[in-house]
Parts: sequence; structure tokens; C-alpha cells
Amino acid sequence: MSKLTDINYVKGVLSRHGFTFSKALGQNFLVNPSVCPKMAALCGAGTHTGVIEIGPGAGVLTHELALLADKVVAVELDKRLLPVLSETLAEHDNVKVRCADAMKLDFHQLIREEFPDEEVVICANLPYYITSPLLMRLLEERLPVKAITVMVQKEAADRICAAPGTRASGAISAAVHYYCEPEQLFKVSAGSFLPAPKVDSAVIRLNILKEPPIQAADERLFFKVVKAAFLQRRKTLSNSLSAGLSIPKATITACLSAAGISDKARAEEMTMSQFAAITAEIGNWSALLSKPEVMNNE
Ligand code: SAM
Repeated sequence: MSKLTDINYVKGVLSRHGFTFSKALGQNFLVNPSVCPKMAALCGAGTHTGVIEIGPGAGVLTHELALLADKVVAVELDKRLLPVLSETLAEHDNVKVRCADAMKLDFHQLIREEFPDEEVVICANLPYYITSPLLMRLLEERLPVKAITVMVQKEAADRICAAPGTRASGAISAAVHYYCEPEQLFKVSAGSFLPAPKVDSAVIRLNILKEPPIQAADERLFFKVVKAAFLQRRKTLSNSLSAGLSIPKATITACLSAAGISDKARAEEMTMSQFAAITAEIGNWSALLSKPEVMNNE
């Protein structure tokens, strides 16, 4: 069992380095001994596989990843944790810590520099305040990685993994299902962390697809449509799309009808293929109008 799950040891190391937890940086460190070995094993870390970890904290997950993978590059924003990590990960010569903001870092470059010949997976206990934007960034950039395994709040896990067309789905579900096949691996109770957050978490794995499951003629427009559709999820799809895309309601109703969709439908009822069909109709209308600026309402 890793000493990094011994609360007294972790508290001792952190206090020796004068470290105090930052709520703003989502710093809740794992102290449940069963979680990190399981996460490391399920993320695909192994021989001939490199791992990128985001937010190593005191290094509890990094340690388990380093036991399995050829090499681990851990990206930590909080420079106060660098001396802590030097101490806690001293036994591993296959770990590199980079002090950087994961929201800004060039991950393509990192992979070229650090993992030129290896398969790569991403594994992280994510800071909750950047869960959705960071996941979207990692997916949209089409990084050459096999899978992304992350711990997120349970509610976020449910939304991310919900199949489009089901009640729990949201804009992120459709976006995620465009790039990967998500699966929930296991639940983690709030008491597994120091300090304990208010809510439970879950570990999910996003298995990256080689091809999207649907053909969107205009990918950018597809994501605009999905985003607009869920902007006002209590309203009908036609109202949300009309408001979100600044397109007259009558045009949206005509596009929905051409795609075989009722104007009473709601965003959460739409499957990936239906979103693609709506995108195609709105794209046709926009091309006919030859006024691309109609769509420029970001
Ligand atoms: N992996 C550790 C664990 O499981 O105990 C810590 C996880 S803690 C939930 C999130 C970590 O992400 C913290 O170490 C925090 O400093 C770091 N972090 C927060 N924002 C970040 C960012 N934008 N880029 C990189 N790391 C970040």
C-alpha cells in the first residue's frame, strides 16, 4: 500500500513544505488506498505505454501510474507542489513533472517531445472547476491518445456518459459521443479525499474512436447546433435553436420538419443522427441564403 494514502504521512509532508489546500484549484487529494491502483490499472498504463497525468497533487496516482507505465509526464499548475512531488516521487526515475496550466499547454507538442514512439493514455483526478472545458479541449484537439481516464464529480460523470437521446444527456454528452465511447468504471465516495468534498465522484474512461459515429458535413456547425439546442433545455428544440443560433423560428421549424423532427421535440430527445440531420438542414438553408454571417453569433 502506498504511503501516500496514509493521511498522517501526507499531512506531514504537506505541512513540512508549508502547503495549504487551495479550494480554487480543486485540491482534494485521494487518500483511499484502493482507488489509485484500480485507476492506474484500468487506464491502460503498461509497458510501451506512456501516461500524461493532469494535476498530480501530492503524487498518489502518479506513483501507481509510474509502477505500470514506461514513463509518466505529470502536469501540475500549482508550483508549491513541485518540492512536495520531488520528495514523494523520488523513487521513480520514469516520472517527469511539468509546471503548466493544462488549459493552455500544447499537448500535441508534449506528446511529440516526450512520447515519440509510444502509445499514450491520459489519466487524472481532475480539478472539478475545469472538468468540462478541459475534457472538451482534450477531445477537440484530437490528440493521438488511446483513452482518457478521469475522476470527475458523479453528476458530471452521469452527464458526460449519458447517451444522446436520453433524459440525462446534455451538450457535453453529444460532444463526447462524437469523439469517443465513454464508460463509467466505478464510484468513489466523498470520504476518499483529503479534504472531503461535498459530493461523490466517479471514474470514467473515454475510449477514443477512430471515426465519429455519424457524418457531420460541417463539424463546426454541428457543435453550434448541439450547444444552442441545450442552451435552454426546458424549452422546445425549435425555440432553443432559434434563440441560440439567431435564426427565425419559422426557418428552424422548416429545417426540423425537413429532418423529420417534430417542432415540439426537446434537445434531450435527439440522437446523434438527428443532430446531424438538423445540422445538414440548417447548413442547406444557410448556404441558400449565402449569408454565412447569420451563423456568426458565438
Ligand atoms: N492527483 C491528485 C490526487 O488524486 O490526489 C490531486 C488531484 S486534485 C483533485 C487536482 C489537482 O489538479 C491539484 O493538484 C491541482 O493543483 C491541479 N490543478 C488545478 N488546476 C490545474 C490546471 N489548470 N492545470 C494543471 N493542474 C491543475
